[in-house]
Amino acid sequence: MSTLATAAETARRELGSAFSGQLIGPEDAEYAEARKVYNAMIDRRPALIARCTSADDVAEVVRFARNHQLDLAVRGGGHNGAGLGTVEDGVVIDLSPLNEVQVDPDARTVRVGGGCTWGEVDRATNEHGLATPSGIIATTGVGGLTLGGGLGHLTRNYGLAIDNLLEAEMVLASGERVRVSDDEHPDLYWAIRGGGGNFGVVTSFLFRLHEVDTIIGGPTFWPVEASAEILSAYREFIPNAPRELNGFFAFTTVPPAPPFPEELHMRKVCGVVWCYVGGEEDAAAAMAPLLEAVPEPLLHGVHEMPHPALQSAFDGLYPPGDQWYWRADFVKEIPDEAVQIHTKFGAEMPTMKSTMHLYPIDGAAHDVGSSDTAWSYRDAKWATTYAGVDADPANVDAIRKWSIDYFEALHPYSAGGAYVNMMMDEGQDRVRASYRDNYDRLAHVKATYDPDNLFHVNQNIEPKA
Ligand SMILES: Cc1cc2nc3c(=O)[nH]c(=O)nc-3n(C[C@H](O)[C@H](O)[C@H](O)COP(=O)(O)OP(=O)(O)OC[C@H]3O[C@@H](n4cnc5c(N)ncnc54)[C@H](O)[C@@H]3O)c2cc1C
Repeated sequence: MSTLATAAETARRELGSAFSGQLIGPEDAEYAEARKVYNAMIDRRPALIARCTSADDVAEVVRFARNHQLDLAVRGGGHNGAGLGTVEDGVVIDLSPLNEVQVDPDARTVRVGGGCTWGEVDRATNEHGLATPSGIIATTGVGGLTLGGGLGHLTRNYGLAIDNLLEAEMVLASGERVRVSDDEHPDLYWAIRGGGGNFGVVTSFLFRLHEVDTIIGGPTFWPVEASAEILSAYREFIPNAPRELNGFFAFTTVPPAPPFPEELHMRKVCGVVWCYVGGEEDAAAAMAPLLEAVPEPLLHGVHEMPHPALQSAFDGLYPPGDQWYWRADFVKEIPDEAVQIHTKFGAEMPTMKSTMHLYPIDGAAHDVGSSDTAWSYRDAKWATTYAGVDADPANVDAIRKWSIDYFEALHPYSAGGAYVNMMMDEGQDRVRASYRDNYDRLAHVKATYDPDNLFHVNQNIEPKA
């Protein structure tokens, strides 16, 4: 590239009519908006943002970045806490125009563009009374969430998002386009189910669908002062509950807005956010052993609703543009000492939006073996995340400190690694610890498909033949 021409100018000249999307550089009016990602703490200035409208566009930009030895980031929904959907001074492949959703109700599958958000998918599948497991927020990208694993409201009943991934279409570091499945490139199919964006750009996903129309869902809140008792009961209850019932434990602050009663506004609480696939009576029976074992809650806001309504219930509370600092761990047990530490930090949440979640990993997620996919921690029982969140940049130090202190106090009780989708940039040892025995196989697949580590803006797996 000429040192005088910008990356965007060079790309426009070199790609010409072979590229049908939009090429945006710092000199363009759209740049300020186009470079934003969900976490406002991430403030990177790419040299080029390439909004791709087809797999061919993606292949062109992959080749361009490789030929010019530019750092390359791939952006799905842009939600990643560590900002792995963008890169300073490099090229961003923005997949957001690739947002087509095609439901096949007879085959019970949905084909999803690599830049879709889960809200787009959930709305389309719900029209047929169907769903595939995703997360708990509709604005999250299908791409990053799926490639990292995908934990959410339907995990206990139907497994992780990757457990329902039947096929993917990809652009490799060479620019070649391939389809991966059990029959085609099975090594790559294994690696992308948990290995993140390390192996190429996924331009479309094919997921299995399940009969999920309305669900019984919502939160139950108790005073944060009761959290030792509630968490102690919850840790025994959820692993033995029927699979149809998912319930993640949380510390949160009741938002000062409807539908929450005014007397609870801004009160720190602990709670469980439920999702039951089935009818109201069965849901009540499934929750009863926990609810009957602990004191009356402050609020039991559980009712029937369309699945997408639960999936988007947090979207208003967490719009794009807040500051986020994440830490995470997998845990197998929550001993009494850990309960006490949770109780302390739950009471000390520094801001209204800061939160801690314990996502259950059992039921259908345990039907798959630790080396069947790249996602190694099938023997964990929860993924913990400590998320310091606030709209005001002045509170960054406070949210970061709370999140790190909480994590450090509990890490000795963890299983060692963390869910890669909820980590910050924490170094190679942490990535290795999160893939355990699967790491070497992942490094080998990486050496086969991306020997020069073109796709390195991710929780990186270093190529090793
Ligand atoms: C508010 C919020 C709620 C969340 N809730 C959940 C949850 O319930 N369950 C859960 O499991 N996770 C959850 N997460 C974590 C989420 O899974 C990760 O942040 C994930 O990385 C987001 O994916 P994305 O596509 O939006 O991110 P991006 O920032 O766009 O990308 C993240 C990484 O994935 C890669 N990538 C994205 N799309 C593709 C693609 N098509 N092909 C190749 N690589 C790609 C990128 O290169 C990057 O390395 C949540 C995050 C936030 C901010």
